Amino acid sequence: MHGVQELIVPLTDGTLSVPYVDVTGASPGPHLTVIAGIHGTEYTSIAAVREFARGLDPAWICGRITAVPVVNLPAFWERSPFVVPLDGKNLNRSFPGDPAGTAAEVLAHHVTESFIRPSDYLLDLHAGDLPEALEPFALYDESPVEEESRRLAHAYGLGHVVRQARAGRTVGGSTSAVAADLGIPSITAEAGQNGILDRASIDRHLTGLAGVIRLLGIDRRPADSAVPTIAPAEHDGWVWLRTSTAGWWEPAVAVGTDLDTGDLLGTVTGLLGEDRVEIRAPEPGVPLFITSSPAVTADGLLMGLARARG
Ligand SMILES: [Zn+2]
Repeated sequence: MHGVQELIVPLTDGTLSVPYVDVTGASPGPHLTVIAGIHGTEYTSIAAVREFARGLDPAWICGRITAVPVVNLPAFWERSPFVVPLDGKNLNRSFPGDPAGTAAEVLAHHVTESFIRPSDYLLDLHAGDLPEALEPFALYDESPVEEESRRLAHAYGLGHVVRQARAGRTVGGSTSAVAADLGIPSITAEAGQNGILDRASIDRHLTGLAGVIRLLGIDRRPADSAVPTIAPAEHDGWVWLRTSTAGWWEPAVAVGTDLDTGDLLGTVTGLLGEDRVEIRAPEPGVPLFITSSPAVTADGLLMGLARARG
């Protein structure tokens, strides 16, 4: 296996060694960084980067590829969804990080400086987390380099592409947002759900990675065959729907469904089925992820409803 290295991250209680692979090709080209495991239980994305990293070879690479399968190692080992268990913070809301902050902020700082800033392009792979159903999509942020980011999103080949405007950033402090601020074309690519390690979702990520390295000219190997690409549905950000009351959440729709204003999205009831609250679509959209766990706390997230791009 080529180019195995470790990023050493000093934390208050010892250090974290994040393994990665860094391979420079025989001929020149751009530097692409591929990361996963920002959320440590999104296994399809982690599996895809593991397989991708093992296949890297200077013989065919034009440029340089850095591949990091699991960034948030504490969450991976603890099987903790969403957060870094050492401080309970969401790593993907902690970028660009702070070397003097808590664990998530220190880790974000080292990832920003060692992996994101030196790159020409960044791909951050995710999936629906343990309690999340998800329709595959790629997200990019508004920035001076957003057309290049959009090209990456299309090359990844998932059915939905979401543009996140700077003003309406619902996901602040993410890897793709900090990359956008640094002028580095970047996407967040999501496929897989509920912590299930399914082959089809791993393959969707691997197909996406193959599409991007071909687009960027990093992979000059002859293609097996021309894969017909279907234009994705494009969206302008999304509405994050939350419940005002805690209770038992039961979705009435599936991810990826086209919905109109007023459509019933699901219900929240008490633990004995009392106090039924209907949740309806505030505007037309497509739910790209839905909380699949019935347990929701007050202000808990129910789904992300992507808005059609007008
Ligand atoms: Zn994630």
